[in-house]
Amino acid sequence: MTKILHRTIGTTLPSAVAGEGVHITDSEGRTYIDGSGGAAVSCLGHNHPEVVDAMKVQMGRIAYAHTSFFTTDVAEELAEQLIALTPSGLDYVYFVSGGSEAVEAALKMARQYFVEIGQPQRRHIVARRQSYHGNTIGALATGGNEWRRAQFKPILPETHHVSPCYAYRDMWPDETTEAYANRLAEELEDQILKLGSDTVMAFVAEPVVGATLGAVGPVADYFKRIRQICDKYGILLILDEVMCGMGRTGTMFAFEQEHIVPDLVTIAKGLGGGFQPIGAVLLSEKIYRAFADGSGLFQHGHTYIGHPIAAAAANKVVEILRRPEIIANVVKMGDRLQAGLDAALGQSPYVGDIRGRGLFRGVEIVADKDTKQPFDAARKIHAKIKKEAMEQGLMCYPMGGTIDGKLGDHVLLAPAFIVEPEQIDMIVDRLAAAI
Ligand code: PMP
Repeated sequence: MTKILHRTIGTTLPSAVAGEGVHITDSEGRTYIDGSGGAAVSCLGHNHPEVVDAMKVQMGRIAYAHTSFFTTDVAEELAEQLIALTPSGLDYVYFVSGGSEAVEAALKMARQYFVEIGQPQRRHIVARRQSYHGNTIGALATGGNEWRRAQFKPILPETHHVSPCYAYRDMWPDETTEAYANRLAEELEDQILKLGSDTVMAFVAEPVVGATLGAVGPVADYFKRIRQICDKYGILLILDEVMCGMGRTGTMFAFEQEHIVPDLVTIAKGLGGGFQPIGAVLLSEKIYRAFADGSGLFQHGHTYIGHPIAAAAANKVVEILRRPEIIANVVKMGDRLQAGLDAALGQSPYVGDIRGRGLFRGVEIVADKDTKQPFDAARKIHAKIKKEAMEQGLMCYPMGGTIDGKLGDHVLLAPAFIVEPEQIDMIVDRLAAAI
C-alpha cells in the first residue's frame, strides 16, 4: 500500500525502473514509448549519456553552493549559452528550480520593476482564460483555468483574464486571422482601460498553449498586436515558455515565430530535460537596469536556485539542443507526427482538431464533430484515453477541464527530439488504437 499522496488518490501506478531514449520500462518488465516526454520535459530522451556524464562530473566537484555566497562556472556558462540563444533585448537570466517558481519570479520582477521606476500604482496582472501557469498561489491565480482555481479562489490574489487565441473554437466562420487578432487585441485593450491603464503591470501568455488546450498556437499577428497594446500602455509582456520553449515547437523559443521580443520569458521543463529540476526567467536589459540602478537588489530568492548539478545538466542539455541536427529533427518528426495523426485520426467522429508546432501536437476530442460539443465532464474521456494508451504501451498527456467550466478533452504529444520515424509511427498507431 503506497504511503505517497499521489495526485489521484488510490490509483495504482506502475513503477518506473529504467529509461533509455524514448522508452521507459516498469518493474514488471513492460516497456512504454514516452510520447509526451512526461509533460513535455524529457526533450533529449531518458538517460542521455552526455547529460548523465556532465552531472557525474559535477557531483565529483561540488553538488551545492548557496548563491548568496558563490556562483559556479556551470551556472555562469548556462547563462551565457541561454543569452546567446535569445534575441537581443533579453540579456540576463535569473535561475529557479521549476516552472511555477519561474512564473512567480517573473511576476515579482514585473512588480518590483514598476516600484523601482516610480510607478508603484501598477499592480494588476492580466492573463488569459483557460490558461495554466503553475500551481503555486501566484501562478495559479495567473492561470485562467476555472476548474483548477475553483476551490482556491478565496485565497488567490486578484487577477484578470481575457480570451485565449483559440482559432478552432473562437474564430468566427467568416473572420480573417487578421480580424480575429484585432478582436482579441481590442479585448485586451478594453480590459486594460477598464482597470486603468496605469495600474496594469503585466500581461501573461503562453505562446503555444500546452497543458490546458493541447498545443494551440496563435494566429499570425496575434502577438504583434498584443506587443503593440503592451507598448502603448507601458505594460510588461511576460511569455510563459515553460512547456513550449527550448526547441519544442521547432525554434528555440516559440515566440521567435511571432517576430516579437517579450520583456520576460519563463522557461523550465525542457531546460533540464528531466535530468534535474531547473527553471529560469530571461529578462530584458530595461528590467535589469532598473534593479541595478535602483535598489541594487531583486527581493526574491529560493534555496536551490542555480543548483550546480541542475546547472551542469541544463548546460549540457542546452549545448546539445544547439546542435543543428536536433532542432532539424524536431521540425521533420513534427511534420511526420502531424501527417500521421491526420491520416489515422482526421476522420474520427470524436476528433475535432489536430494541431501544433514541431514536436508539440494536440488532438482535441469532441462528442460531436459538427457542433464541436465536448464530452460531458462525467465521461472522463481524457482519463480513459490515458489508461488505454498505457495498456497499448504509450505515454501520452491527455487533459480535460479546459472549456470554461465544461470539460474539453485533448491529448498532448511531445516526444523527445531524438525520436525516430518508426517511433513516431508507433506513437500514432498506439494513440489511434487507444482513442
Ligand atoms: N507554466 C506552464 C506553461 C506549464 O505548462 C507548467 C507545467 N505544466 C508550469 C508553468 C508549471 O511548471 P512546474 O510544474 O515545473 O511548476
